[in-house]
Amino acid sequence: MEAQRIIDHLSRTGKTGVVAETGYGPSGLPHIGTFGEVARTSFVLQALATVAPQVQSKIIAFSDDMDGLREVPKNLPNPQMLREHLGKPLTSIPDPFGEEKSFAHYMNKKLREFLDSFGFTYEFASSTEKYASGAFDEGLRKVMVHYEEVADLFRATIAEEKRAAWSPFFPICEKCGRIYSTRVTGHDPSAFAISYACDVDSPGKYAACGHSATTSILGGTCKVGWKVDWALRWYCLGVDYEMHGEDLLESSRLSSRIVKVLGGEPPELFKYELFLDENGKKISKKIGNGVSLEQWLRYAPVDSLLYFMYLKPQQAKRMGLPLLPEIIDQYLELVESWDGSEDSPVPFISRLSRTGHAGKLADPKTVTYSLILQLILALNQDDPRIVRDYLLKYQPDIAGNVEYYELLIEDALAYYRDVVLPGRKQEEAGHEMDEALAEFRDLLKGLKDSDATPDADSLQTKAFRVSKDRNLKMKDWFRMLYRVFLGQSQGPRIGSFIALLGFEKTIERLNAHLEGHE
Ligand SMILES: [Zn+2]
Repeated sequence: MEAQRIIDHLSRTGKTGVVAETGYGPSGLPHIGTFGEVARTSFVLQALATVAPQVQSKIIAFSDDMDGLREVPKNLPNPQMLREHLGKPLTSIPDPFGEEKSFAHYMNKKLREFLDSFGFTYEFASSTEKYASGAFDEGLRKVMVHYEEVADLFRATIAEEKRAAWSPFFPICEKCGRIYSTRVTGHDPSAFAISYACDVDSPGKYAACGHSATTSILGGTCKVGWKVDWALRWYCLGVDYEMHGEDLLESSRLSSRIVKVLGGEPPELFKYELFLDENGKKISKKIGNGVSLEQWLRYAPVDSLLYFMYLKPQQAKRMGLPLLPEIIDQYLELVESWDGSEDSPVPFISRLSRTGHAGKLADPKTVTYSLILQLILALNQDDPRIVRDYLLKYQPDIAGNVEYYELLIEDALAYYRDVVLPGRKQEEAGHEMDEALAEFRDLLKGLKDSDATPDADSLQTKAFRVSKDRNLKMKDWFRMLYRVFLGQSQGPRIGSFIALLGFEKTIERLNAHLEGHE
C-alpha cells in the first residue's frame, strides 16, 4: 500500500527515483525509535522494489546536528562543561567523551555505528554540513523571497503576542556562538541578510551576550526554525517519502504547506503511533518504561524486534519486559507457518536481519521462547549447553538449525537472570518475612494469653531473637516492623513501642498486614 502511494507520487512529480528520509536528533544516543523508523522505511522500500524493481531508492538518515542544546542530557560525562555551552548548535559543543570534534560528531558516529550494526542501507546527512556547504542556499533564498507567505502560514498557528516578533530565521551569534539567544530585528531581502540582537536570556541556563549584527542567511551562519527547516530539507534534498510519529502530525501539515510555498512538492508522509508499555502508558525516556533497544537485543533475537516494527505501525502497540516472551513466540510461530510467499513479514525480516536465521526454523511451534524459559526454571540451570541438550532430546528436529536455538537459549538465560530471577527472589524474601512476622505475632499472643505485662526490654529481646533464629538481616527485619506499625522505614525502639501500643493493638496490626499478603 505504501509502495503504491510512492509509485503514484512518482508519476505525479515525474521523478524516476525515490528519496526517503529518516530523522535523528543527536542531543542523545540513538534509541529504539530511531531503529524503528529506519527499519520501517527499509520495509517500505523493499516492498517498492518488489513491485517496481526499476525504481532506484535510497534512505537519507538526516541528523539535526545544527540544533542547539536546550538541556544538559542525563548520563553523559562532563555535565558542567555542557552546561556552559547550552544554547549553542550541537556541532559547536565539545564532545563530552573527548573523542570526536564535537558533541554532535560523537552522536553522529554512534548513529552510523548503530545503523551499520544492523546492516541498514542508508546515506548519512548532517544538517550543519548541508547549511555550511551551501546545499540549502537556494531553499533559504526561497524562504526569504516568500517570507510573507511563510509568515502568514505560521502566524495562524501561534499566539497573537508572538506574531510580530516571529521570524523563520535563527542566526548564530557571531560573538557568543549561541543560536537560541538571538532575535531577528530586521530583514533585507535584496541582500538575503538579516539583522539580529543577541538578547534572549534563558534564566538559569545562559545569558545572552548583547551583541548585535547584520548577517547573510546563507552558508551556515543562520538556520531556519524546525517546521521551516523540515520543508527546506524536503525541498533541497528532494524527499519523496518520510515517516513520523503521531506527535509530529501538526508540524508535518504545516511543513507540507511551506514546501509548496517554496515551489516544491511535499513527500508522501506516513504517521506511526508511538509505543506503550505493558500497562498501556506511553513510553518515555524519563520514566524508562517499555523495553530499551539494548534490553531487546540482550533478551531476544533481532528478527523479533524487526517483526515488532513491521507489525501495524499505525496502532499504538504495547511493549514491556513482561510481554517480551509473548512477542518472540508470536514471531516464531509466524516463521513456522510461513508458506514462502511475499505476503508475509517473514521475507522482509529475513532480508534485513543480520542473523540470517529467519525463515529457517525447524519447528518453532514446539520449541518456543516461553518453553525454553520454563525449562530453565524447571532445571534451575544456568548452563546453556545443558539446556540445549535437553531441548535436543525433547525435539530432535531442531538439530538442523541448532545455532539459532543456541542464540535463543542465551537470550532466554539473560532474561531469566535479569528479569525472572530478581522477581522470584523478591517474592521469596517477602514470604520469609511474612513467616517471621507470623511467628512474632504468635509469640505476642502467648504473652497476652498468659496475662504478662508488656515489658519494653524483654519485647525488644524477643523481636531480636525472631530475626536471629531465622537468619534474617537485622536491618531488614526492623525496617519491616516499622513499616507494619508506622508505615515508614524507621522509628523508636520497637520494644518500647509495643509496650506502649499494648499486645492487642500490636497483634491486630500484624494480622492486618499478614492478611493483606494472602
Ligand atoms: Zn551572543
